[in-house]
Amino acid sequence: MPLTFPSSPGTDLVLVYAATAVPAVPGEEASADPTATPASVPAHAEPVAGVGFQGWRWQVPAGEAGGRPDPALLPAGHAVAVVPAAVREAAPKMLVMDVDSTLIRQEVIELLAAHAGREAEVAAVTEAAMRGELDFTQSLHHRVKALAGLEAAVIEDVVAAVEPQPGAREVIDAFHTAGWQVCAVSGGFTQVLAPLAQDLGLDRYRANDLEVVEGRLTGRVLGTVVDRAVKAEMLREWSAEAGVDRAGVVAAGDGANDIDLLDAAGLAVAFCAKPALREHADVVLDVPTLDVIRVLAGL
Ligand SMILES: [Mg+2]
Repeated sequence: MPLTFPSSPGTDLVLVYAATAVPAVPGEEASADPTATPASVPAHAEPVAGVGFQGWRWQVPAGEAGGRPDPALLPAGHAVAVVPAAVREAAPKMLVMDVDSTLIRQEVIELLAAHAGREAEVAAVTEAAMRGELDFTQSLHHRVKALAGLEAAVIEDVVAAVEPQPGAREVIDAFHTAGWQVCAVSGGFTQVLAPLAQDLGLDRYRANDLEVVEGRLTGRVLGTVVDRAVKAEMLREWSAEAGVDRAGVVAAGDGANDIDLLDAAGLAVAFCAKPALREHADVVLDVPTLDVIRVLAGL
């Protein structure tokens, strides 16, 4: 009997997916043809599609090796993800996302630094921090110092420039329709995250507060820095408050600062992530759309 999604208990979810708009890279193989069904996808698989991707999902007996395609045997451009039974069956679920380069396409501090004429300097420190080569808190202080003297009014320009990642609104809406919460935790700044959270309808958020004195940034942040440990603490605090078991918490991030966050989750998604984070992930998602998470969550 074919398994019928999503009603079979004790089964893992398998998802094979490909981008529907893969940018051509000169010298590389042609991108995946997402219209062709790979040979390793069973006939009873359910076709799924969303913002920027399409694929197939089906269920296999939990914990057994059979029924999961070997990624090496999939056509170029296709990826496979497995959601363990405990996560698939958990309800309610909660989604907790990093912000810079995860929920949104940019790094906010680089947008701010561009206004201060210090973009290249700050970007180099960000890159090193996200590769795990620098202590995050020290690197944050260093980068924020470069913003000293900047008029606080430029924050409005940065808020206007922020672009949610493809699929962000769709995955948030799907979680909300299911009655589940969506949260964001950021090593960036409350002044930018608060209006974004309101726009996207996020249930909870936490970031750092830039200090502003007489209309200008001082180059300091106020209070405890949201570092990788605090990100994981927020996940545990929010999920406990909402009555969500660890198995039901899906976390997504892209950088070394998200390692503890992903380690604390039931399903850890490395989103177009730096190498330091990928080994901590249950799902390495390299297709640039958050909407895949909706399908991983069974929505
Ligand atoms: Mg990030």
